[in-house]
Amino acid sequence: MSHKVIPISRRSVLGAPVPRHDGGALADTLGRPMRDLRISVTDRCNFRCTYCMPREVFDAGYKFLAHEAILSFEEITRLAGIFVGLGVKKIRLTGGEPLLRKDLPRLVEMLAPLGADLTLTTNGSSLVKHAAALKLAGLNRITVSLDSLDEATFRAMNDADFPVAKVLDGIAAAANAGFSPVKINMVVKRGVNGDQIVDAARYWRDSGHILRFIEFMDVGSTNGWRMDDVIPSAEVVRRIGEAFPLEPIAANYAGEVAGRWRYRDGAGEVGVISSVTQAFCRDCNRMRLSTEGSLYTCLFAQQGYDLKSLLRGGADDDAIRDSIAAVWRARGDRYSENRTAETAKKPKVEMSYIGG
Ligand code: SAM
Ligand code: SF4
Ligand code: SF4
Repeated sequence: MSHKVIPISRRSVLGAPVPRHDGGALADTLGRPMRDLRISVTDRCNFRCTYCMPREVFDAGYKFLAHEAILSFEEITRLAGIFVGLGVKKIRLTGGEPLLRKDLPRLVEMLAPLGADLTLTTNGSSLVKHAAALKLAGLNRITVSLDSLDEATFRAMNDADFPVAKVLDGIAAAANAGFSPVKINMVVKRGVNGDQIVDAARYWRDSGHILRFIEFMDVGSTNGWRMDDVIPSAEVVRRIGEAFPLEPIAANYAGEVAGRWRYRDGAGEVGVISSVTQAFCRDCNRMRLSTEGSLYTCLFAQQGYDLKSLLRGGADDDAIRDSIAAVWRARGDRYSENRTAETAKKPKVEMSYIGG
């Protein structure tokens, strides 16, 4: 699939000259700093989650990126170092399914010395194999997606006939390797797994892990999103609270995407990610680097900035840093705050490509 990207060069970004980044605090047009970098390491996946990579679109004929088109580990590491120099404190490896990228622990090992909080989001299907190596390589934290504990529901949602038990084994392997607590992401879709909210809460409370409910989002252009399918986080919290009383707790840091709630009986916490019903754009400090080296300033972006051409064209670190800074300074994204039925229908970059 081709994606609209704007060239960036030493001389121009968005038609304006690129000023030298002077080392001062970097902020976008709404005063937001750049703190979090999400790196998509592959656009491929072994699942076909209906809300992310529907099989009708991502079928046998779908053209995934060729190997030469995707950033090498050396290129990713060089860029990540420049991002850290610009203020990034947290790096998340994602995709697609990041553990499909060959030798991923080697990339982790290359990134670890940068000193950022290094995290990974995975569908968990191959964690049994990789968890220990990821820990050894210096990964700090893992998030595993698991949308249902019910076999039929989960197999239908991943549309790859993948069993629940193997993901649970992956979560256990991550915990054994030292990644406890693991964060568990559950995308909630009305009429699909919406009736399983309390079951999931019951299963994960007191486990030492943290379950987070994510509102079904209108990412990309292929998942058939409708507002009617979204279960607002307020309803999720109300339903859980009726079974297991909850109380709110403070965010760990500014810009944290999940709202946090604690079980009053001391059985741990749950999170809700309300990107549709309670947008959190005003604190959004996330930059995204796509698998083929384009920059995206919002998950719902319609276009990116071609960093790879600059990188492969021989630009030095200063030039790359100035261009990244210029893209961030020009950023005014607040898609979720302005979402309407019309914007939801506009073509957007797919989440598997841009990185979730
Ligand atoms: N393959 C990995 C995984 O599933 O964890 C990493 C990439 S995936 C795109 C990252 C996260 O985005 C997952 O937790 C997934 O459930 C979530 N996601 C994907 N499509 C979504 C959608 N339409 N609405 C809400 N969350 C979505
Ligand atoms: Fe793959 Fe993750 Fe998207 Fe599911 S959510 S299709 S596991 S990239
Ligand atoms: Fe950030 Fe865009 Fe999501 Fe708003 S919609 S929180 S700007 S990624």
